[in-house]
Amino acid sequence: MEHLVDILRSEHHLPPEGYAALIDSAAGSILDYAMQNAREVAVARFGNGIFIRGLIEITNYCRNDCYYCGIRRSNRHVERYRMSREQILARCRMGHKLGFRTFVLQGGEDAALSDAWIEETVHDIRTEFPDCAITLSLGERTREAYLRFYNAGANRYLLRHETATPEHYALLHPSFMSFEHRMQNLRELKEIGYQTGTGIMVGSPGQTTEHIVRDIMFIESFRPQMIGLGPYIPQDDTPFAGQPAGDIRITLMLLSIFRLMFPDALIPSTTALATLAPDGRERGILAGANVVMPNLSPEDTRAKYALYNDKKATGLESAEGLRGLETQLETIGYRISFERGDYAPSDSI
Ligand code: SF4
Repeated sequence: MEHLVDILRSEHHLPPEGYAALIDSAAGSILDYAMQNAREVAVARFGNGIFIRGLIEITNYCRNDCYYCGIRRSNRHVERYRMSREQILARCRMGHKLGFRTFVLQGGEDAALSDAWIEETVHDIRTEFPDCAITLSLGERTREAYLRFYNAGANRYLLRHETATPEHYALLHPSFMSFEHRMQNLRELKEIGYQTGTGIMVGSPGQTTEHIVRDIMFIESFRPQMIGLGPYIPQDDTPFAGQPAGDIRITLMLLSIFRLMFPDALIPSTTALATLAPDGRERGILAGANVVMPNLSPEDTRAKYALYNDKKATGLESAEGLRGLETQLETIGYRISFERGDYAPSDSI
């Protein structure tokens, strides 16, 4: 099995059955070998600096109803909130003082947030923080809207494709949501010039190895600059309540596979990983991740943005815990990088 890792490291590609074999062997010692190789590749490219992104969860309203998501519109137990522009700017100011140079505005598909409002918010952040990157994670919008946000100063956009298999997409989403539209949006974002991120939940209900291999093949052809992977974690108020959580070892194997495929990619060690295991964030980094996204949202909104059960949102996962994060990283031989951390292909640096 080690030869598959060696080939992936040197050629950045495997045939589908090679990926399947690695995924199906994640419970064995090959995971350590894959992680070691991925980590070496990440350190050779980025050193031991881990980029930080300040996450601001600007709204938990959503018009969609994804069956796995705690803030889906059918969930009547959610206390909804929407941050004002001034509140968002205040969080950016706080984050900037702490050293953050990327702000990630994330939210549900909130119909009350008009394109013009988002555009103006991006414009205000861009004007006040010309040295910072602005990442949006606000779901599906029109091409025109994406273009307006980009021209107002947004640099990056995160939109997980969730699954590259239409039948699996239909199992995870209500029929009014469209697999094709999601894929079209991803293409549009990239064409406009955003550093584009996509990814999946690992172990989502109904997911098979074959599905994951298709996700890998999709990501291989789409070539996103950012790849987000977290284990699926059930949420009690969703139709998938009680389903098992995703496998942490398969998540780590996939992080390593993507690092070996894409040495330059920006790959976060996600909150979901840190939620599922106390040392999940460190293990993600040791599997080749090079980004963490501490939460800059106001404390009183964090609990309301409960995408899944027990989402980690306090202590080290908050900006106030930045010092703690630094200590945590130091124990595994890494440090916080306060650089802006844009995507840069190796041949351009
Ligand atoms: S996953 Fe995103 S689009 Fe789907 S319901 Fe949750 S917030 Fe809305």
